Amino acid sequence: MSLLEVNNLTIYYEKEQSVVKAVNGISFKLAEGETMGLVGETGAGKTTTALGMMNLVPNPPGKIKSGEVLVDGKNVLTMSKKELSRFHGNQAAMIFQDPMTSLNPIMTVGNQIAETIRHHEKLSRADAYKSAEKMLETVGIDSDRMSDYPHQFSGGMKQRVVIAIALACNPRLLLADEPTTALDVTIQAQILDLMNDLKKKYSMGMLMITHDLGVVAEMCQRVSIMYAGRLVESGDLEDVFDRPSHPYTRGLLSSLPSLNEDMERLRPIPGMMPDPANLPAGCPFCPRCEQRMEICQDTMPGNMEVSNGHFTMCHLYSSNKGGTT
Ligand code: SF4
Repeated sequence: MSLLEVNNLTIYYEKEQSVVKAVNGISFKLAEGETMGLVGETGAGKTTTALGMMNLVPNPPGKIKSGEVLVDGKNVLTMSKKELSRFHGNQAAMIFQDPMTSLNPIMTVGNQIAETIRHHEKLSRADAYKSAEKMLETVGIDSDRMSDYPHQFSGGMKQRVVIAIALACNPRLLLADEPTTALDVTIQAQILDLMNDLKKKYSMGMLMITHDLGVVAEMCQRVSIMYAGRLVESGDLEDVFDRPSHPYTRGLLSSLPSLNEDMERLRPIPGMMPDPANLPAGCPFCPRCEQRMEICQDTMPGNMEVSNGHFTMCHLYSSNKGGTT
């Protein structure tokens, strides 16, 4: 059994004047100890996917329209409030881009970690505090700093504290939403190394949400490319990076700077992602795609397997140039 199985997850934001179709029927699996990258531009639906997986989509206006999120076989989307509270932290935790969204500015970092531990485990205050000290050391911060407040830490140190809080109850699944985007490059590398080490130490499954393909190359065994709320390509890292099949993935990869490459050859993808409140009937990449065909305009491509475990949503790989609508 997979650690995580997402089936046909669909999430909308229903507003008075419009319906924002943020996530449109996505499915994927994650094994224990595996890291999968979820890649896409801003607005592709990555964060909504992660919130859906934690059953934390703000309702209203957000609504999970269909699908299931199975963690160890149990559907997160049908859990009671009590079950969900146990699930958050004990089984799954989430790290956000800005550490200050997760930290309480008027509470010491030691107490924040200890309170998280006490919320999930029946420990005395003193024992929880001792566990919190160990956790702080695990993320590379001296336990002398337990009594400090978040504002006394640098950005990278704050993100280490957030990681300590996320891992305090030893979750089996970690969702990391752009965890290094707000940090400068050298600190980014340190945080990624730390996350890699901790993932191995705790055998967690990790979903790394990012727009940075370099982070994916460094951290992930598998990757899914998200566009306009759909997974347009997914597979093992080498398959997708060495033999990209979807024109959007090829565009993303060819827009990457390379030390060996003449900068004039870098080609950004022209155009914009469609408005999720007004998606086209056919392939959502159609307006930007240099290989579009007539069928692409009004028929949604199905998910084709181009090689073992490597899937793409594109009519170029359909024998009848057709697909599901
Ligand atoms: Fe391009 Fe058509 Fe493939 Fe969409 S389905 S990516 S428009 S070729």
